[in-house]
Amino acid sequence: MTTPAIITVAITGSLPKKKDNPGVPITVAEQIEATHEAFEAGATLVHLHVRNDDGSPSSAPERFADVLAGIRRHCPGMITQVSTGGRSGAGRERGGMLSLKPDMASLATGSVNFPTRVYDNAPDLVDWLAGEMLAHGIKPEVEAFDLSMIFQAVSLQKAGRIEGPLHVQFVMGVKNAMPVDREVFEFYVKTLHRLAPDATWTGAGIGRDQLTLARWSLELGGHCRTGMEDNVRLDRDTLAPSNAALVKQVADLCEEYGRSVATVAQARTLLSLPMATA
Ligand code: MG
Repeated sequence: MTTPAIITVAITGSLPKKKDNPGVPITVAEQIEATHEAFEAGATLVHLHVRNDDGSPSSAPERFADVLAGIRRHCPGMITQVSTGGRSGAGRERGGMLSLKPDMASLATGSVNFPTRVYDNAPDLVDWLAGEMLAHGIKPEVEAFDLSMIFQAVSLQKAGRIEGPLHVQFVMGVKNAMPVDREVFEFYVKTLHRLAPDATWTGAGIGRDQLTLARWSLELGGHCRTGMEDNVRLDRDTLAPSNAALVKQVADLCEEYGRSVATVAQARTLLSLPMATA
């Protein structure tokens, strides 16, 4: 039997509200509703950024607390993952919500160029964020924007700064970072498997190649990420009406690749996470 596929939905992101799609959820109520719809469409993991009501990025732990509480209430067992990315805060502010103990948090293990800036992840900040996650029992999702970040994750695990097994997300398609490239993608998968045989992984395609990465991930035994943080279109000509529509698109693809859509219990088992308590 093949491994069920975990579908992650990244509902919002931290860029200014995408002008070409008014469906990006911004307020706490919109984020909870969008997550619930995506959950019903097959997403078992939600990746979260929060915003102020005017759409500007926020890093307020209170805001995260409200969204997390709503998701826990309406989406039983769904895996919650907060972003510690650099757009919604600076330095240790980026980990200010970790005391809320989500199931997971993103952890970029190195720096990379982004479309208009450097995504700055200095070694001491990475180490501090990893330590906070360890202290609060949060599983990191390592965000690998290039090969060195995979090696760095493995060495953090060996040093006891990340508790294994590792979960790594390969991100491709960010302008000025790693493009969508099949040979490199296969090398990422092979290298992770060689260095950390018990690791799990997800492929995330940013922009028009979101579905390309979903296909490659399903084919090679990994997991998928979709959602309006990364892409707001169903195809070149069609705006996605909702995050749930993007999730449904990936859920439909699973069948084509002989993969079932993971249930929350399966997703938690695959990621070595405890079952949710009511
Ligand atoms: Mg993010």
